[in-house]
Amino acid sequence: MALLEINKINAYYMHNTQKTRAVENVSLSVEDNEIIGIAGESGCGKSTLVKTIYGAIEPPLYLENGSIIYNFKNLSSNTKITNENIPFYWWKKISYIPQASMNVLNPVRKIKKFFENLWRAHRQDLSYKNYQKLLSTHLQHLGLPVSILEYYPHQLSGGMKQRVIIGAASLFHPELIIADEPTSALDVGVQLDVLRLLLKIQNECKNTIIVVAHDMSVMANFCMKIAIMYAGNIVEIGKTLDIFSHPLHPYTKLLIDSLPKIGDKRGLKGIPGSPPDLVSPPSGCRFHPRCPHSFELCKKVSPTMKEFSAGHQAACHLLERGETNERK
Ligand code: SF4
Ligand code: MG
Repeated sequence: MALLEINKINAYYMHNTQKTRAVENVSLSVEDNEIIGIAGESGCGKSTLVKTIYGAIEPPLYLENGSIIYNFKNLSSNTKITNENIPFYWWKKISYIPQASMNVLNPVRKIKKFFENLWRAHRQDLSYKNYQKLLSTHLQHLGLPVSILEYYPHQLSGGMKQRVIIGAASLFHPELIIADEPTSALDVGVQLDVLRLLLKIQNECKNTIIVVAHDMSVMANFCMKIAIMYAGNIVEIGKTLDIFSHPLHPYTKLLIDSLPKIGDKRGLKGIPGSPPDLVSPPSGCRFHPRCPHSFELCKKVSPTMKEFSAGHQAACHLLERGETNERK
């Protein structure tokens, strides 16, 4: 059984009377021990989706309908946690590394205080002595010096702060870690270190990781499976290799084509146009104003996800007609 089942969720932001439909009709199944990436341009609903999965749903964010069910394997097999009671499991079963997370470190508190607060709030079942033992073993495992606990956040580099946050998110061995753009504020070399750290944690703790990135090269190097989002919808999902070697959806194809290629002197291609305003998204297929293959039906009817090969799904009328996304 999947670790996480998301069924047809709609999540929106309400500002005065304006409704931003950030996530619409999204279904996703995440397996145990999987590293799944959620990719797409900025503003396509990735962060809202993972916030909703984490259960951090507070006004102006609302979950309109749909369900999110977690089946954590250490609980009795028929226990289903829904996202109404999920806060009880935060940090213990499910951890969340928000975008720009290094800014959550309190500048006037030492790093050890940050960890201690976590222990106090979430693991009072653990004696202080055992907590300290767990913390030092964990830091050493992750290659972080224990002396880091005596530092203040401003004494650490961005990469080090991000490692501290990842160390905190994995401290109590949660089964699911959600990381929103964990590398976006870092230099390229440091980005790789941070990804390696996440991989190491996944290898050792066998947890499931959902990672959000707009950078497809992060996805290629790190994820087993990728979901592509466009304007609040998941438009394609498949194994990383399938997505890169045989992208189905025209948007996925353009995203991959926009990646820099070795030896290509023509520069980045970019995707023409920009993502739509989600207050009043386009009718039918939301990608139709930018799609090089759009036809009449696309403007009227929203395509649904269909499986085109084992585990590889996409939502596009063109594919349903048996045509391919090769550029016209
Ligand atoms: Fe393009 Fe139509 Fe497919 Fe949308 S449904 S991606 S507009 S071909
Ligand atoms: Mg985001």
